Amino acid sequence: MTDEDFMKLAIQSAKDAEASGGAAIGAIMVKDGKVIAKGWSNPYGKRDPSNHGEIDCIRNCAKENDLMDMQSCTLYGTLEPCSMCTGAALWAGVDRIVFGAYAADVVGNDYEYDDYSSEKLVKTSRKLADSSRGNIEVVGGVMREECKQLLKDYKGWQKQ
Ligand SMILES: [Zn+2]
Repeated sequence: MTDEDFMKLAIQSAKDAEASGGAAIGAIMVKDGKVIAKGWSNPYGKRDPSNHGEIDCIRNCAKENDLMDMQSCTLYGTLEPCSMCTGAALWAGVDRIVFGAYAADVVGNDYEYDDYSSEKLVKTSRKLADSSRGNIEVVGGVMREECKQLLKDYKGWQKQ
């Protein structure tokens, strides 16, 4: 399966997240061509500000697969991971991060520093990490328009 095929599954995860009362952001973890975990964004429902789709996916992946080292895994998300989620992916040791819409595609998303990019953050952090693990590849913009539309259609940003 291609990155696009897996992104379609991440988009379905985002739709499932929204249907369950969360935000329209989803993530999946893939290893050896198989989906081994899914995650939904639902900070309000879970009363947990850190419950982003990617964090939920990493937590589920660790628990469901008894897997603390996610080397040779790819984290797919419908939205560029924030600094918290990018950091969690680094701690989990994933090899690749693939996302759909860019953070800048979401109007009013001003949580990050100016010119934030998860790719830049990964590069900065990786210098401090174990060089034998190699670089983490970050691929953005896979099915960008579909992922942008998903976020544009979502009406629950101002939930309390
Ligand atoms: Zn996040």
